[in-house]
Amino acid sequence: MAAYTYEVGDTVTLKKQHPCGSKEWEILRVGADFRLKCKGCGHQIMIARRLVEKNTRDLRKKA
Ligand SMILES: [Zn+2]
Repeated sequence: MAAYTYEVGDTVTLKKQHPCGSKEWEILRVGADFRLKCKGCGHQIMIARRLVEKNTRDLRKKA
């Protein structure tokens, strides 16, 4: 597993896609749980950090 440094504003690509078809999520909050916003439909979720780490395919740093 690659070691990623997650920061607010980054875009994370997860292995599983959201029902709307997007796999990209904007990071709104980091911690033991992350808050992510779907880049496709804007839906927000809370997800455990370890699940984000386990399911990350790519991480793009904010510009
Ligand atoms: Zn979505």
